[in-house]
Amino acid sequence: MTTLLTTELSELDKKHFIHPTSSIAQQQAEGPSHIFTEGKGVYLTDTNGHKVIDGMSSLWNVNIGHGVKEMAEAAYEQMSKLAFTSNFSTFSNEPAIRLAEKLSKILPGDLNAVFFTSGGSESNDTAFKLARHYWILKDQPERQKIISRKMSYHGVAMGATSATGLKPFRDFTNANAPHFHYVNSSVEEFRTLVEKEGPETIAAFIAEIVQGAGGVNLPPEGYFKEIRKICDEYGILMIIDEVITGFGRTGKYFAIEHEEIQPDMLCFAKGVTSGYAQLGGVALNDRLHNDFKTLSKGTLLHGYTYSGHPVACNVALKNIEIIERNGLIENAKKMGEELYKGLKYLEEKHEIVTNARGFGLLGGIDIVKDSQSGERFAEYLSPLIVKEAAKLGLILRTVTYDHDSIVFSPPLIINKAEVEQMVNILDQAISNVK
Ligand code: PLP
Repeated sequence: MTTLLTTELSELDKKHFIHPTSSIAQQQAEGPSHIFTEGKGVYLTDTNGHKVIDGMSSLWNVNIGHGVKEMAEAAYEQMSKLAFTSNFSTFSNEPAIRLAEKLSKILPGDLNAVFFTSGGSESNDTAFKLARHYWILKDQPERQKIISRKMSYHGVAMGATSATGLKPFRDFTNANAPHFHYVNSSVEEFRTLVEKEGPETIAAFIAEIVQGAGGVNLPPEGYFKEIRKICDEYGILMIIDEVITGFGRTGKYFAIEHEEIQPDMLCFAKGVTSGYAQLGGVALNDRLHNDFKTLSKGTLLHGYTYSGHPVACNVALKNIEIIERNGLIENAKKMGEELYKGLKYLEEKHEIVTNARGFGLLGGIDIVKDSQSGERFAEYLSPLIVKEAAKLGLILRTVTYDHDSIVFSPPLIINKAEVEQMVNILDQAISNVK
């Protein structure tokens, strides 16, 4: 690739491409920082031939790494045979059926039936709609409220935005809707809110086990067990959002397995295909599914054109086969420990690094001016560090809603040398910036 091509594409990008979750002003001023053309393993290459480590698995999703030919073959095979057919009403297709069955085996407990979507936002919206519909069927239509946690991220569809605890996302589009309430990760606060609002008005509680986009925030010990008890006490449905944490990211197939509880619904996306195709879904436990079977009379008036897309489902089946065949869940656990050690090392070495944390291959650090008081710099420093790291060959991400944080989510195939390379580059980037 040439500089000429980069310049041409950059100009076209500015003119015609509205980037998701981006600063339009910055895009107009600077153009794209990288136009990626190739990926192999944990590495990405851009039009300038610049090779970088994808320390975020792109958007927390390329779990099996880039450039896996078998995935392309799975897509090709299905696309050649049958690229698309409807699943509405009584129609079905083999990859969707096989994937639904496979998921029922790998999902914990009795989450045995799946509603497919095209991504995480649609999955969460689906869960809210199913929860409210469930209560209509149960003759409790006043149960409409959804409770979520502050600092949570549940996506950008309208319902998912309203449930997102990160307020700027809601304010952006006036999505501070009635029926949505937010709590800190405190059991008592949850109970107080439930009792204040009236349990008979609450449809469901939704939470990520580890908050990803909110800064890789780990749950307090025992938190989810207590929340489950309160949900049971008041008949509130529990929805667990495993869009980031699913499919091995935390060193278990699903993060809920660390908590030893069962949700009523579990939402997934991202890692189900490692980003090789667009797919998400909501798994329902037997109780809910059986209630729907016995109480539903009319049509389930909810469905996306691409619910159960045959190509996406075939790609997901291959992705799961690769995760299992290559022991990627165990690798995530082992390499997660290495990453955590590396982050701890950075915390010890640099005064400005604090709160190193890890949960499988999810990690985070905070940047502070004063590690004693936790006071942060007036201007966020993490964006400068992340920019410097990208120059040195490592893509990371900042979280600057509340803290000045850098987060990590490398592909599950990463090896020890590559983890060390990540830590070394970040070490250098911090030294260059501070
Ligand atoms: N839920 C969580 C926890 C997420 O991290 C995301 C995306 O980052 C979503 C939902 C939304 O998923 P999507 O972007 O596929 O709609």
